[in-house]
Amino acid sequence: MSQSIESVLTEKRVFKPSREFSKQAKIKNFAEYKKLYDESIKNPEKFWGKQAAELLWNKKWTKVLDWKAPFAKWFVGGKLNVSENCLDRHLNGPRRNKAAIIWEGEPGEKRTLTYHQLHREVCIFANILKRNGVKKGDRVLIYLPHIPEAAIAMLACTRIGAIHTVVFGGFSAESIKDRLADSGATCVVTADGSYRRGQAVTLKQNVDRALEGNTAVKRVIVFRRANMDIHITEGRDVWWHREADYVTADCPPVPLDSEHPLFILYTSGSTGKPKGILHTTGGYLLGSLLTTKYVFDIREEDIYWCTADVGWITGHSYVVYGPLALGATSLMYEGAPNWPQSDRFWDIIARYGVNIFYTAPTAIRSFIKWGDEWPAKHDLSSLRLLGTVGEPINPEAWMWFYEKIGGGRCPISDTWWQTETGAHMITPIPGATPLKPGTATLPFFGIDAAIVDDNGKEVGPNEGGKLVIRKPWPSMLRTIYGDKARYKKQYWSEVKGCYFTGDGARRDKDGYFWIVGRIDDVLNVAGHRLGTAEVESALVAHEAVAEAAVVGRPDEIKGQGVVAFVTLKTGIKATEDLSEKLRKHVGAVIGPIAKPDEIRFAEALPKTRSGKIMRRLLKQIAAGNAVTGDTTTLEDFSVLAKLRASDE
Ligand code: ATP
Ligand code: MG
Repeated sequence: MSQSIESVLTEKRVFKPSREFSKQAKIKNFAEYKKLYDESIKNPEKFWGKQAAELLWNKKWTKVLDWKAPFAKWFVGGKLNVSENCLDRHLNGPRRNKAAIIWEGEPGEKRTLTYHQLHREVCIFANILKRNGVKKGDRVLIYLPHIPEAAIAMLACTRIGAIHTVVFGGFSAESIKDRLADSGATCVVTADGSYRRGQAVTLKQNVDRALEGNTAVKRVIVFRRANMDIHITEGRDVWWHREADYVTADCPPVPLDSEHPLFILYTSGSTGKPKGILHTTGGYLLGSLLTTKYVFDIREEDIYWCTADVGWITGHSYVVYGPLALGATSLMYEGAPNWPQSDRFWDIIARYGVNIFYTAPTAIRSFIKWGDEWPAKHDLSSLRLLGTVGEPINPEAWMWFYEKIGGGRCPISDTWWQTETGAHMITPIPGATPLKPGTATLPFFGIDAAIVDDNGKEVGPNEGGKLVIRKPWPSMLRTIYGDKARYKKQYWSEVKGCYFTGDGARRDKDGYFWIVGRIDDVLNVAGHRLGTAEVESALVAHEAVAEAAVVGRPDEIKGQGVVAFVTLKTGIKATEDLSEKLRKHVGAVIGPIAKPDEIRFAEALPKTRSGKIMRRLLKQIAAGNAVTGDTTTLEDFSVLAKLRASDE
């Protein structure tokens, strides 16, 4: 039986950056990228050491890397402070009064915080934390809506060396409870409530429930966002705005060791129980800063919008730390993309004149489903660059994004990376890299990515295999919090000497990386190993299909049969005839072997709160089994119930 994944998708369209775009870009052509990349791989320590000068150090490091595999220390002996890098260093020049954060609430309120104002708010909140007993090294759990206070609370933690763990505001009491227990947090920062699709939803109440029986948490600091009645537990709960009356705005940043823990963030939980990923100060900040600079190619006057919530790694690295370290203007929007109607995002882009727009394939597929008339109503001509992250983007969704949103003039940075990697790993450099729809293209500077077979040997062009990283990089995770053994086993035992990503991929003849799906989801049909992403992309390329998730189920003859869960575009009816057409369509696009044995039409697919399809649940449903395993990160339980009901 073949070991590696056979590749089936052939995507031949190539889009070169326009001369106009390249001319103004930081990296202006492919040769320039290639030269810098080759140098960075030949001597990574020299490269990273040189790049580290982009940060403000209180004390310079003495050694770039101390690597006792699989444990890394970067910029050994160096001292710095993240909030000082993101705020203070922009205050002595023209950026002082530049917008750091532009925020819009779902109900429509607008706020702008200049670097000066943000700095002031962060200092005040850092003093509030201190006043409430939070010390260097303590864990602070942040459970807030997508409001500037989330960034303020994160930065305030970094100012005093507290370790934050942000929990997405849409998560339940149960999820908070798990993360409190795992991180050992002693302080929680939350709000009374938040807004979602016009409704005020409670947050503080979830914290109260999560804290039942918890003795570790000494303080809950509550921001007033939604004017809700909440229960205050005397001696434990305090209001943010009241505390602010007791402190000054003077809070010098604490110089911290380069390897001081910065935050713990739990992964999305697409493949199992979320893992508490630990990132540290110097390396993480360098990774997020450099990628923001080169991958988004932000100019001083740009309005940059990453739609991710701060509860995800994308929000950490590309709403808060990367853009602010760079001195950019980062836009935040609190609510749903279809509130009050399906053009909220396009309306925001037009009103603020957004130049760079970074979102997820799941959102793009929703936009397509809602119809082209929504973006068509708005002037999107301010956009210069687009980006995606989270899942493989199906080539048809890429094309739609490129044409309907980017007007055929904006390069798309399809960025492959993980909570664990801290920053972009495989991504186009927009002024330099010719693009092909559906591929994250080539590795970022200093990233030694490869595809290997089960024996750890690099595979040839278009042969699929495991995606690994062969050298440590500064923004890599340092461990799974409190569980070194699991860290070693999960990431460093599968392929000797390499970081194993868990993803399956192939490289085409130009060396471009195509993510074909999670390695555990690879289908094995009559001895052929197929990635899920390729079959799904073929389905999404059909005009009737909005979204597809493909899983294997046990099959006596073929080993595995292919089951496709499919949602249709608005107004299209699910019929036997359509099902047959889709099967034939897949057969025609990628070959008879990939033809689904069964197509199941669904109203919606089970997703994580960050919008990733949870194939492991669909696999269980397809096999007729009960759904087991961690479902705390599932977005909507009714989706699962409906899928199961249609099964009976
Ligand atoms: P868990 O590790 O708990 O199962 P998760 O892997 O979904 O959750 P994240 O760290 O949020 O948690 O997601 C990283 C994964 O997302 C990658 O391993 C990859 O599978 C997928 N991914 C992210 N960006 C891209 C992209 N541009 N192209 C293809 N896949 C992507
Ligand atoms: Mg993962």
